[in-house]
Amino acid sequence: MDEMPLLLTPGPLTTAPATRAAMSVDYGSRDARFVALTAELRETVTRLAAPSAPEAFTCVPLQGSGTFSVEAALGTLVPRDGKLLVLVNGAYGRRMVDLATRMGRVVEAVTFDEAEPVDPAAVADALAGDTTISHVAVVHCETTTGLLNPLEDVARAVAQAGRRLLVDAMSAFGAISLDAATLPCDAVMASSNKCLEGVPGMGFVVVRRSALSDCADNAHSVSLDLHAQAARFEKDGQWRFTPPTHVIAAFVEALRAHAEEGGTEGRGARYRRNCATLVDGMRRLGFRTLLPDALQAPIIVTFLDPEGPSYRFADFYAALDRAGFSIYPGKLTAVPTFRVGCIGQVQPADLQRFVETVAHTLEDLGVQP
Ligand SMILES: *Cc1c(COP(=O)(O)O)cnc(C)c1O
Repeated sequence: MDEMPLLLTPGPLTTAPATRAAMSVDYGSRDARFVALTAELRETVTRLAAPSAPEAFTCVPLQGSGTFSVEAALGTLVPRDGKLLVLVNGAYGRRMVDLATRMGRVVEAVTFDEAEPVDPAAVADALAGDTTISHVAVVHCETTTGLLNPLEDVARAVAQAGRRLLVDAMSAFGAISLDAATLPCDAVMASSNKCLEGVPGMGFVVVRRSALSDCADNAHSVSLDLHAQAARFEKDGQWRFTPPTHVIAAFVEALRAHAEEGGTEGRGARYRRNCATLVDGMRRLGFRTLLPDALQAPIIVTFLDPEGPSYRFADFYAALDRAGFSIYPGKLTAVPTFRVGCIGQVQPADLQRFVETVAHTLEDLGVQP
C-alpha cells in the first residue's frame, strides 16, 4: 500500500496504530468481552461529559456518523409540541435547523455572521420574546470556520430563561472541557472520530437521565430513538440492532489513549501546540486566518486563499497530497478559503513539516500568499 497522507482534516482523522489494531478482533455482539467494552465506553464518555455529576447522565451510543446522533437527540428530546431555537453561525447550526424542520418540529433560528460567535444577549432576547421556545441548540466549536462559541455564557442565558439546552460538541469533545451538569445542559452530542481519535462509524449523546425519562415514544424514528436505545443498554448492556463492533473496539482503545495523554486537558494542550505551530508558520509565509486568535478553537483553522490568478485549490490540494498531507476545502460562501485541521494523531513537528511543505509547494506553483 502507498503511504497514506497525514489527515489534517476534521475527521476521519489519522489514528494511532493501537486504535486500528483493536479492529482485528471479530467480536460477537453478545460476547461478554464486547458487552464489557460497551460498558467501559459508556462509563468513560459519561465522565468526560459530566465530570461533576456523571450519575445524573447516561451515555447513549448510536450507530452512524455524528449527524445521526444529532438527529436522534433533537428528535427524542424536543417534544412534538415543543419549539426549538437553533443558534446558527455556520453549516452545523444550519444542519440542526434542517434536521428539526424535516422531522416536523417547530424550529426557529437566530443567525449570526460566520466569523462572529453567537451572542448570549441575543439568545436572552429571543427567549424573552417567545415563551413557546422549549429548547435551544448550539454548536460548541463551529467546524465550518473553527470558531469556538461562548458555551458557558449561552448556557447561563438559557438556564436563566428556564429553557433546556442541547449542545453539538462534536468537534470539541475530548479536547475542550465542558461539564454538562454545571453548564447546565440536557444533552451533549459527539462522535468517535474527532478529538477522541477513534475511527468513524459511531456517535453518542450524553443525556440527562431526568430529561430522557420523559421522552418515551417521542422520537419520529425507530432507529434514531434515543429513549429506546438507552432502555436496551440499561436492560442488558447490549445494543439495539447490529453494533459496529470493530468501531467500538477501536473507540475503547482510543479512549484509553486519551486518558493516558492526560484526558481532555492533555489532549487539548497538544492540539493547542499543533494549532500555534500551524498558525505561526502559515502567517510567516504570508497567509491570513479568517478568525482572530481570540475566537479560534485549536481544532481546525480557516485560511484565506492566496490572491492572484495562479492559485487554484485543486492544484494546491493535489501537490500537498503528493507530499503526504491531506487538507480540507473551505466551506464559506462569502470568502474563498481552505482549512487545515490540528486534530488526530498529529504532533507539532508534523505541522512544522506541513508549513515547510506549503512553502515549497507555493514556490513550485508560482503562487505568492
Ligand atoms: C463533524 C461534525 C458533525 C457531524 O458530522 P458527520 O459528518 O455526520 O460525522 C456535527 N457537528 C459538528 C460541529 C461537526 O464538526
